[in-house]
Amino acid sequence: MSEITSTLESQRDFFAGGKTRSYEFRKERLETLKDLLHTREKEIFEALQKDLRKCEFESFIGEVGITLDEINHTLKHLKGWMKTRKVSTPIALFPAKSYIHPEPFGNVLVLAPWNYPFQLAIAPLVGAIAAGNTAIVKPSELAPYTSAVIAKLLKEKFDPAHVAVIEGGIDVNTALLKERFDLIFFTGSPMVGKIVMRAAAEHLTPVVLELGGKSPCFVDHDADLALTAKRITWGKFLNAGQTCVAPDYLLAHKSIKSSLVEEMKKAMRNAYGEKPLESPDYPRIINERHFKRLIGLMQDQKVLAGGDSSNESRYIAPTLIDADGWETPLMQEEIFGPILPILEFEDLDEAIAKVNARPKPLALYYFGNSSDRQAAVINKTSSGGACINDLISHLLNPNLPFGGVGESGMGSYHGKGSFDVFTHEKSVLRNYNFPDPPVRYAPYEGKIGLLRYFMG
Ligand code: NAD
Repeated sequence: MSEITSTLESQRDFFAGGKTRSYEFRKERLETLKDLLHTREKEIFEALQKDLRKCEFESFIGEVGITLDEINHTLKHLKGWMKTRKVSTPIALFPAKSYIHPEPFGNVLVLAPWNYPFQLAIAPLVGAIAAGNTAIVKPSELAPYTSAVIAKLLKEKFDPAHVAVIEGGIDVNTALLKERFDLIFFTGSPMVGKIVMRAAAEHLTPVVLELGGKSPCFVDHDADLALTAKRITWGKFLNAGQTCVAPDYLLAHKSIKSSLVEEMKKAMRNAYGEKPLESPDYPRIINERHFKRLIGLMQDQKVLAGGDSSNESRYIAPTLIDADGWETPLMQEEIFGPILPILEFEDLDEAIAKVNARPKPLALYYFGNSSDRQAAVINKTSSGGACINDLISHLLNPNLPFGGVGESGMGSYHGKGSFDVFTHEKSVLRNYNFPDPPVRYAPYEGKIGLLRYFMG
């Protein structure tokens, strides 16, 4: 029997034993996870440094800190979330009562990507544990040090019949996807999302797909340009642009485009110095394949800032490109790197129409001070999430569910959303033996009028 099959069988038995159903068990396991994050932070940071040259600050804000926040929020509210909720019952069903009973799906699979390799494996796990499931976590093979540290830490503190880590590449994913799970939670590209959904269809397994896409960022004529440039620089070049909700391209109002570019250059220098290659805060591209892909995207483009690279350390400078329309390769695929094309617009509605002609993005950003124009952008576009006068920060609020729409994914998590997405809401009607109104039973003659009175 393979490791995958035997692990899953042990998880099925563990779940059937009922241990994961209690609040006390879930709470204790989440506290253990929290303790691991606190006490072993250094090992996690070291792994992230080796995989992506992530500095401590970015490793905290985007990996360990955000996950701790998720655990704390969950521990604070879990008892309430687990409660059954009474709902009203129509008089025609008298004397029955009704309620919604949250129950775990059972045995779930979490497939994680490499860009935030710790957070995107562990934050979904928080939801899975909170909701009372067992879980197999498969970290990304492209971040091997982080994958190894996740496997090591969880093995130390978790019974693999409850939470197991299975490491490996695409072959392991393929083998995992052949098995029958009760829910699959996948974070990654739309292309692999389709593979996951096809495999899940074989078993009619529900899927949560946290995907990516090209997230646009509007900068309007009345935006505070210095502040906007500072925020965009932070959001775009965080993790060297390898962030699913990074602004993929800018749509700058024609009247402020050149001033915005100047402010961006200033903000980039302030953040990473004259030589970002030497900045301790600036990460590297995950591997050779992505490095070459990104260099290819810059070919024949009009570089406004940056543009240099070093093959040896897989470094690509924070780069601004004067985009030559919507048809270049740079505007076809998700960039997922530190290259920011800038397009210009004059008419906001036309720019919105251009965005709407493309697949629905994971995030959409608008910088500008008119509340009418802010509302127009939010009301006339569709995206997984959005920020006005900011970016990425919507992920840091546990009260805002995070997920995509259309090609950027389905299902959302964070905060209560994480509990909900790993929970089946079972509808329960409890009836009583007395009274037992005879209206529903045959013979039906003469009863339809009463039925119409209650139901019509
Ligand atoms: P990916 O889709 O290439 O890989 C994700 C996972 O799928 C990995 O564990 C990998 O082993 C596995 N995989 C790859 N090819 C496979 C195949 N043919 N069959 C089965 N499994 C396969 O994604 P990635 O490169 O790791 O991450 C980048 C993408 O993920 C981007 O599109 C980005 O926007 C998206 N992303 C989304 C979110 C989000 O929260 N919505 C977060 C991070 C990244």
